[in-house]
This record gives sequence, C-alpha cells and structure tokens, in this order.
Amino acid sequence: MLKEETNEDSNAGPKRLRSSIGGDVFDFQKHCLFCHDITPCILPNEHDPKVPQQYRVPASRVTTDKMGDGETYKQYLLDLCEKRGDELGRIVRNRIIGAPSDLHAADAKYHRSCNANFHRDAYRTTMIDSKGSADDQAFAETVHVLGCDRSKVWNSLDVEAVYVDKGGSVMSRRVLVENVIQHFAENMLALHSPGVATLLVFRKHVATNLRLVDDDQNGEMDECIR
Ligand SMILES: [Zn+2]
Repeated sequence: MLKEETNEDSNAGPKRLRSSIGGDVFDFQKHCLFCHDITPCILPNEHDPKVPQQYRVPASRVTTDKMGDGETYKQYLLDLCEKRGDELGRIVRNRIIGAPSDLHAADAKYHRSCNANFHRDAYRTTMIDSKGSADDQAFAETVHVLGCDRSKVWNSLDVEAVYVDKGGSVMSRRVLVENVIQHFAENMLALHSPGVATLLVFRKHVATNLRLVDDDQNGEMDECIR
C-alpha cells in the first residue's frame, strides 16, 4: 500500500527521507533522484568548493510536471518504478512518495546518465514482458495446430517449425517439446530415441500411426510402447 503523505505535514520546509541503506538522508535538492546510493548531485552552474572541478558531475533538474497525456510526471515515474520491480525501483519510489509536491517544485535533480539508465532498464523489462506474452500466444497457437491434426506423427522439428511460424522465439526446441507433452498430458505419447528427433503421437492414433501390434505376453498396448 502507498503510504499517505500527510503524516508529517506540520513539518515545514523540504521533506527529508531516511534512506533504507545506511543513515544518509535523501534530499531532493542535493541528491540524484535516480542514483541507487544517495549521491550528491550538482548542477553545472553550482559551485561546491569542496569538490574539485573534474569530479563535478553535471546534473539536470526536473522541469516537467505533466506528461503529454496529462499524467503527472510523478505518477509516470511511479509507474516506471513498478515496471522495474527491482531494488532501484523501490528506492526511487520511496523518494518520490516522500516528495512534498510535484517533483518540479521539490527541485528534484538527477544525473543525466542515471535518468537514462532508469528509463532504459524499465523499458527493457517491458519489452521482455510483451515478448513473453507474445510467446505464450505462439505456444497456444502451436498446441492448437497440433491438436487439430491429431492423426499426424509430429516430430520435434515439425513442432518447432509451427512454433517459430507463429512467432515463438523464447523456448528452445527441447523446452518447447516438453511443454507440448505436458500440455497434452495423457493424450500424447512421446517417443525418444538417441540421435532421432523426438516423435509425438496422439494416443488415440498410436495404433494406426505406428502399426503397433499387441504383444500377447503383454496385452496392454501402452506397455508395449513404453
Ligand atoms: Zn545519479
């Protein structure tokens, strides 16, 4: 649950947040919003006599309140934190929730490179997510194709070809075949043989496909195949 921001509103002036790491206190006006650790953030036109010129990292200031679609920049960043779902996401989220107003007014600062990292990683996660669901879709279509053609003897290469044709790319052939076998469970038999692509046969069609002959000594056909 989000913590309400009202717990300390008698406290005038810039809000300060305890960091989860160490005893340092995060301050929007002093520290980079997107640094994992609490790191001093100095704007190019500010001069800190204690920091040698070559160690001063140019910073940027949050100047946006609203995104194009009307969403606040604060909410936009909170969504990114959520997407990241990692430690840095949680750290930044806690800082943002502690902001007294919008980030612009809080005078939030950030290193350009930290800002870029923060966004890039979040979008990468999003891409993996959408790739994952596209792959689920490809798998669903693959088992549908197999299920529609149950009299065929499928080998693992055929199955992979269908999967790739449907846009699948995440599973290896072995994982794909394992998942297919799991999907059809007792309706499917998998025949493994060293050096030969795994054969998948729908149990109902085993007799016609494999011309298996009942073994008198071992009446059960399934036993025979195993
Ligand atoms: Zn930074």
